[in-house]
Amino acid sequence: MSEAEYLTVQEALTAVLAGVSVLPAERVPLLDGLGRVLAEKVVAQDSLPPFANSSMDGYALIAADLDGASKQNPAKLRVVGDVAAGAVPDVTVERGTAVRIMTGAPIPSGADAVVPVEDTNEAWRNRERPLPEQIQVTRSVKSGDYIRHPGEDIEAGQTILEQGHILRPQEVGVLASLGVSEISVICRPRVATLATGDELLEIDEPLRPGKIRNSNGYTQAAQILALGAVPVQLGIAGDTETAVRQKLQAGLEANVDLFISSAGVSVGAYDVVKAVLEQEGNVGFWRVRMRPGKPLAYGTYHDIPYLGLPGNPVSAMVSFERFARAAIRKMAGHTQLDRPTVTVTVQNEIHSDGRESYIRAIVTSNGSGYQARLTGDQGSHIMTSLVKANALLIVPEGVKHVPAGDQLTAWMIDWPEAVF
Ligand code: AMP
Ligand code: MG
Repeated sequence: MSEAEYLTVQEALTAVLAGVSVLPAERVPLLDGLGRVLAEKVVAQDSLPPFANSSMDGYALIAADLDGASKQNPAKLRVVGDVAAGAVPDVTVERGTAVRIMTGAPIPSGADAVVPVEDTNEAWRNRERPLPEQIQVTRSVKSGDYIRHPGEDIEAGQTILEQGHILRPQEVGVLASLGVSEISVICRPRVATLATGDELLEIDEPLRPGKIRNSNGYTQAAQILALGAVPVQLGIAGDTETAVRQKLQAGLEANVDLFISSAGVSVGAYDVVKAVLEQEGNVGFWRVRMRPGKPLAYGTYHDIPYLGLPGNPVSAMVSFERFARAAIRKMAGHTQLDRPTVTVTVQNEIHSDGRESYIRAIVTSNGSGYQARLTGDQGSHIMTSLVKANALLIVPEGVKHVPAGDQLTAWMIDWPEAVF
């Protein structure tokens, strides 16, 4: 396609996002919806609570019977029955009587309040304990006290979750309480990862002269998994057009929604990815004014979106964070695409070359604000400074020097927006 152009990070991101769309929906068992985006609204079929029940272990009674009751002057009530959680009461509470009741058990007819066991002379929470004939109650209650009313939380017919809502554990719990065992959510993106380079060995191969193990393929698969998407590892393609073509073909056969490759997109003599994509795809090669991570390829391969990231491990991971992550989240139906950011005070001075820079750092809070310390060598091959980091400090484009004590925006790589 075109000659490499220089783009800002924002321009590159806008272009990448324009090329991907939200995937279709599928019906899945409730738990498989965790972290995913609802494709349709959910209307409650039942009310919650479904029936009036007790919020305490105690005695169901008529509040008026306790008027004036106190420790000195307890009210005496005849106990006429016992109702456990899950049972259906078969007695009616009349004036001067009470029914022992467990938390969550239905309120028997006639009763309009519950008094907790602690406020009686029968302060035992033991179902096995024989039912007393009479109790003494040492306080008064108001009508309705300690009763959970039907529909207090959710009314049948109410829209409980809107389309686009992200399912977290609490949404899963609400849906379970409403008997929703299957839900319609946006499909998980299937994302192919391809590592290119004659120098690459498989993870379990011993090192040989001139060779390194393929780490990018694993970093990327892990990043894809962490997003709740499905990695399809295409493995390693050597620096020949045939090898690259063959692996990409395997990706097509695996029905992937997005291709991500690492390396082979710069201007090196062996960068064959470019050659293959120029023949069989519609891919542009850009230089992004970003550090690390200058080269970026984006377009389609046989109509499937394609993102070619740089080869250096840190560049690959940071480019994924910045571009691939947003694309995958968009495909999965999310609208919040970037990591959360916070403003930090930097504790080290930082030099940059004027490109928008992503500096590996550890961000901590002292209670009144966030501080950031750099985690060491910022070379694009130094993975350990990324291992020590929980954030990337963004030095804006055009800034070449940040003195210690200045403030920067930190991109929090360990903070999810919501569950993945
Ligand atoms: P390239 O983009 O092909 O010029 O690669 C840039 C650097 O990244 C070189 O030092 C490569 O050896 C390294 N590299 C490329 N792919 C991988 C990979 N999958 N895992 C680890 N390092 C890689
Ligand atoms: Mg290479």
